[in-house]
Amino acid sequence: MTKRQFQHLLETIVNSTQKQEGLFKETAELACDLLSQSLEVDNIGVCLFSGGQACELIAHTSLQGQASRPAQSLCPNYFDQLKRSRTIDVIDVENDGRVAELVDYLNENQVVSHLDVAIRINGHLEGVLYLESGQFHEWPESEIHIVSQVADQLALTLATQRAYDTDERLSLFLKAIEQSEQISMVVNLATDKIEYVNGAHHAISGVPKQQILGQPLACLDFFKQSPVQADAVLAQVKLGKIAKGNTQLTRRDGESYWLRYRVRPFTTPRGNHYALVTAEDCSEELVQQNELERLAWRCSLTGLYNRSYFNRALEKTRSGHLMLIDLRGFKRFNDTYGHEKGDSLLIEVARRIKHFASVKKAELMARVGSDEFALVLEGIEDEQSLDYAIKRLYHQLNLPVQVGAESFEAKPALSVVEINALEAGFSALTYADIAVQYAKKKQGSAIQIFNHALLKSFKEDAQIERDLQAALKNREFELYYQPLKDLGRQAYIGAEALIRWHHPKKGVLYPGAFIDIAEQTGMIAAIGEWVLEAACRQLNLWQHHNINLSMHVNVSARQFFSTQLYDQVWQLVTRYRIRPNTLILEITETELMEDVVYATHLCKELAELGVGLAIDDFGTGYSSMRYLKQFPISKLKIDRSFISDLSVSRESREIVSAIIAMAKALNLSLTAEGVETAEQESFLSALSCHQAQGFLYSPALREAEFSQFLRANTETPLH
Ligand code: C2E
Ligand code: MG
Ligand code: MG
Repeated sequence: MTKRQFQHLLETIVNSTQKQEGLFKETAELACDLLSQSLEVDNIGVCLFSGGQACELIAHTSLQGQASRPAQSLCPNYFDQLKRSRTIDVIDVENDGRVAELVDYLNENQVVSHLDVAIRINGHLEGVLYLESGQFHEWPESEIHIVSQVADQLALTLATQRAYDTDERLSLFLKAIEQSEQISMVVNLATDKIEYVNGAHHAISGVPKQQILGQPLACLDFFKQSPVQADAVLAQVKLGKIAKGNTQLTRRDGESYWLRYRVRPFTTPRGNHYALVTAEDCSEELVQQNELERLAWRCSLTGLYNRSYFNRALEKTRSGHLMLIDLRGFKRFNDTYGHEKGDSLLIEVARRIKHFASVKKAELMARVGSDEFALVLEGIEDEQSLDYAIKRLYHQLNLPVQVGAESFEAKPALSVVEINALEAGFSALTYADIAVQYAKKKQGSAIQIFNHALLKSFKEDAQIERDLQAALKNREFELYYQPLKDLGRQAYIGAEALIRWHHPKKGVLYPGAFIDIAEQTGMIAAIGEWVLEAACRQLNLWQHHNINLSMHVNVSARQFFSTQLYDQVWQLVTRYRIRPNTLILEITETELMEDVVYATHLCKELAELGVGLAIDDFGTGYSSMRYLKQFPISKLKIDRSFISDLSVSRESREIVSAIIAMAKALNLSLTAEGVETAEQESFLSALSCHQAQGFLYSPALREAEFSQFLRANTETPLH
């Protein structure tokens, strides 16, 4: 081959479009073709070492299928030699130690002589250009030179292809990152400068790329608007840790948005430290999440947290005071005035609680039941401040609530529990619930601070509640009768039926020990029914024996306001043929006033049945003259507290005189309760009080004893 031919061959390769475009395979095929036309060899081929150093055949000239060269890892010494010496020319493969590792392959392919030229880039062996001959072939210098030059061109083409590939991949990645709606930013951790940021940053933050590219981190809104958080993130990342979080930022147009970010440090192969920041606008998601949380954790009416939330938060609370507010009589309010007004009342109560909480810097407050609210006050150290806070809240809640044109009372009952004074494992809310039950029963301020005596009495009550369940069935109740004396005629004209419970363990229990519990648990309905029936049966027996007495029966509020009372009384009056005006139901003043409209109706209906109504414990509640006139009641029973005070309290004497005068004016019969001394009796007699009842005459007696008492005390026949 002449020098000119060689020059031509090389020029053809160099100027080929294949080479210029960095198409390695096509250039290798061209090279193999050209070389095979110029050199007397059987096979020319190009292999590249790919991953795992397998030898991939890229081009070759043999007509038959050509096996690829063995993998680099199988012939380490051979390829090591090739890398160092660049060319290996073998005339006789059988007798050349350099190709020992290749012998199997060469024999299989009937190669006798061969020339291998390394294709290297930056000294790295990338592949091999080989020429093989089935006969002995001397490899003259000129041929080795030509093949080497061609191999160099192939190396260049490969490098170009790789550069093109890398560029292509790089621009692909850049394009993809630019397409992303997520912010991508690369920060140089040595200089704290932003080296790259994609278009999403502008779209989300409104800050043009040019204003931050190449600039220090301090120019970012994150560092300007949330410096503490941003510095913490940077410190974390500089320790090699990933930092992530949410931050709320304000755009240039004044709109605020939430950014969720993640910052991951990394080191380049050259050892430079960078951080990749990815971030996205999560405002919508957070708004949705907040909305879901609001729905899940908040009361939609008042905007306060709900019980589930409060319980969870309370579990984590170790200190402070829990306050529970329960609105007494709210259910009745709702039934009487309608749900709309009920809602307005609740909203107003919630508003007052929020206001109180904001003054006291309390954050945890909730509507924990339909008419129950709770809040936790932190940081109150001394008893005085606590007392002041409690009274203030109570006072605020107690102020009248204006709903439309009307004004109502919220009637709050308040309990307070010191959270860290409780045994672990018990919910503070349970204790507050217990205490608030006691608060509700209080006269005056309905406030109860939880203490352990309360818990003890609660447990006893709970036991009573359990025992009550069986009491009716086991016939453990009995009615005792206390005589009523007519002071004018000096004769016994009636009896009050008073329930006693023969408790299997505790002996005889008085109503004070269980009536309230029966009332709260609803068991009063069955007990009250039993009492009415037993009293009517007794009354019937008396009437049968011509004992002319009236029977006073106590009726609790729940019983009175249950819709069944009228029917029950009607049936009993009919069945036992009770004479008119001999059955008198007693209800306390406070209870009667709970629902004036309903009470008025019922009283009228009962009066039509010939059943009288007495207001019990009169003077302890707040009934107004207007109502007294309006109710068809037959009797007032002056509370025994006034009677017992008669000898010591001028005030009581005046109250009793006033009540007697009022009863006269309203034409109501009057009984003084709890008369214990002759002195009290003569005071009452002097004022012409009609009747008296009390230990002066007799305590409540069992039926047999009561009959005896009557016989002993009736000189003149009863009428
Ligand atoms: P109340 O209707 O005011 O009954 C009068 C209470 O005063 C009775 O107490 C009676 O024993 C007591 N008492 C009578 N005279 C005197 C006296 O001179 N001195 C003193 N210190 N006390 C006197 P008791 O039997 O313990 O009943 C208490 C309350 O329990 C009753 O007050 C009534 O409100 C309620 N109660 C009693 N029986 C029933 C019942 O069958 N059903 C309902 N719902 N409540 C009842
Ligand atoms: Mg009574
Ligand atoms: Mg009474």
